[in-house]
Amino acid sequence: MARRRSRGVRVGDLVIGGGSPVIVQSMTNTPTTAVRKTIDQVNRLVDSGCEIVRLAVPNKESVRAFAKIKKATSVPLVADIHFDYRLAVAALEAGADKIRINPGNIGSPDRVEKIVSRAKRLKKPIRIGVNSGSLEQEMRDKIARSKLSRPVATARAMVESALRHLRLLEEMGFCDTIVSLKSPDVKTTVAAHRALAKKCDYPFHLGITEAGTLTPGTVKSAVGLGILLAEGIGDTIRVSLTAEPEHEVRVAFEILKALGLRQRGPEIISCPVCGRCEIDLAKIAASVERRTRNIVRPLRIAVMGCVVNGPGEARDADIGIAGGKGHGVLFRHGEIVKKVDESKLADTLVREARKLDR
Ligand code: SF4
Repeated sequence: MARRRSRGVRVGDLVIGGGSPVIVQSMTNTPTTAVRKTIDQVNRLVDSGCEIVRLAVPNKESVRAFAKIKKATSVPLVADIHFDYRLAVAALEAGADKIRINPGNIGSPDRVEKIVSRAKRLKKPIRIGVNSGSLEQEMRDKIARSKLSRPVATARAMVESALRHLRLLEEMGFCDTIVSLKSPDVKTTVAAHRALAKKCDYPFHLGITEAGTLTPGTVKSAVGLGILLAEGIGDTIRVSLTAEPEHEVRVAFEILKALGLRQRGPEIISCPVCGRCEIDLAKIAASVERRTRNIVRPLRIAVMGCVVNGPGEARDADIGIAGGKGHGVLFRHGEIVKKVDESKLADTLVREARKLDR
């Protein structure tokens, strides 16, 4: 899949864009001032594969907490700042590997300049985060006056806003910038990124913002991010769910795995079950999926209900089962290994997966 050529921007020990793999991010949902809880959540995110973690920094106490969290964790941390340029400057001093701002709500250019000069001195990048819900009044007026459809008009306004902020930073001699154009609407997000991709080579942080709870949010994110990633657009992604952030990381990797952009952990091939199935396949598949989540090595595990498609899929996988009446036939690397009783199928698959992960 050809990817859009973007410039590389360093964030901690990672590079976003410039041909690097698409990086997975998430954001903590604990109060940043709850230092111990936040450190624990950052560590859980890292265990689930998260590569960059963002923390809200809404006040001075959060800056102090951010510094402590930074010292106790190893993953690049991003400070998310709104309104107050002094918090952005302080977060950079506190060790933030990147800051996320919307220059539109920071205020006058000289306030933005104070952030930029500190970022330049500390060699830290900035993400310009444009959200459809917090566009400048001028842009909102343009959308209201436009005769274009709402998604098209909003996408145009988001691109105009982003370009204005990017140019402002360029005039200050700053180009270590990543940009995001977020909307809860898939069509708006896709149109905005397609348009901006033609106008600059800054790396893109993709996300469908406020995508919703686990199932609808997963679907919306998969559709929106999937369209853009399949067109080669996108350098880092955050799936935004009303759920524990570890789910965001799992969904992000599933999207990237489905497109062949990243490989991590097992891919479970399981059939939807029909009247031919004579084992409790849904229970077995759910158990295998849950118990193999901590496996990092890419593996293909087939959990199939009967002899119609079962042996074919199980043979093509690293390990798999094809169900029969109260039992399943275990395959490993294309070969039949043995017949296993239904009660032991999940345990057997998990054990085999762990062996292959060594
Ligand atoms: Fe039905 Fe067998 Fe196909 Fe599963 S593999 S959906 S049980 S035909």
